[in-house]
Amino acid sequence: MIVHLKTTIGHDEAKALAQTHQAILTQNAQWHTGFILTLSSKVKELPVDLTQYAEDYVVLDSDIQFASRSYQDRKAAVRIAEDLVIGGEGNSTWLMTGPCSVENKAQIETIAALCKTQDVRIIRGGCYKPRTSPYSFQGLGLEGLQILREVADANDLKVITEVRDASHVQDVIEHADIIQIGAKAMYDHGILRACGQQSKSVLLKRGFNSTLQEFVQAAEFILSLGNPNVILCERGIRTFEKATRFTLDLCGVSWLKEHCNLPIVVDPSHAIGYRFGVADLSRASFAMGIDGLLIECHPNPSVAKSDAAQQITPEMFSELAASLRKMAPGIGRRLK
Ligand code: PEP
Ligand code: MN
Repeated sequence: MIVHLKTTIGHDEAKALAQTHQAILTQNAQWHTGFILTLSSKVKELPVDLTQYAEDYVVLDSDIQFASRSYQDRKAAVRIAEDLVIGGEGNSTWLMTGPCSVENKAQIETIAALCKTQDVRIIRGGCYKPRTSPYSFQGLGLEGLQILREVADANDLKVITEVRDASHVQDVIEHADIIQIGAKAMYDHGILRACGQQSKSVLLKRGFNSTLQEFVQAAEFILSLGNPNVILCERGIRTFEKATRFTLDLCGVSWLKEHCNLPIVVDPSHAIGYRFGVADLSRASFAMGIDGLLIECHPNPSVAKSDAAQQITPEMFSELAASLRKMAPGIGRRLK
């Protein structure tokens, strides 16, 4: 249950009420100008002693609360820049591209040049890589963040980059425009809390073993701390199928569109794990009216230090972007 407290109630009083009711205390004017208490969704009736403090309240079916369409039936607008809003009432789909890992400056400059020719505004690249083996390339760390930031600023691009664990979350927050929480970090409460306690935008990837309910509840950790700027990313889930790396859950995308009010991005690269399917899956996802596509692209994928099999070349990316642009009017979307 989400309870909007009367705007006359100050912080100390709201905090005491939160403690009494084991509720989370939230403040964000996008939702309500006063303080907000969130109780478990199991609470179906407003506790009597809260009636005098409550301006209004919403009863929710499950612990998907702030992200639920039953709480707010319009898609959240996540503002990255004045003219770069992901989600909201517009019909834009934003392309985000770049390598799996930042490897060196020349590589990022090549991708930045591609972004400029393709009118792409957001560049990606991982600097802290959550690898399956400790013997694989782990990322350039802070040096990588500095390269990304420098090249992005020189080309008027925005940066999305991932945080692997809570030890470097502040460095990522400082250098990124969109903080990516990777699939393996979806349950890392240190990261979720740090992202909730600041206001930069967060792209939360679905854990590959997570249900949709668990996925959106992870987003609730960020939202309930007062950061409304959360984007959900479907990136494939583990199924019995071994021929592809994961299985892109487009049914899940439909479910999220129907039940949740957060913008949705699809990452086809990690889902299929091979470059041959990235363009088709991008077009299929684009046709569903999603808010963004996160696509891995490397100047020379065969020598990439991570995810070599799935990264597409700049030429492939340009062809894909052209085909999406052709599709856009037919599905009532604008490709950005
Ligand atoms: C990535 O984007 O490079 C990545 C590691 O993705 P995921 O967390 O979805 O595996
Ligand atoms: Mn990758």
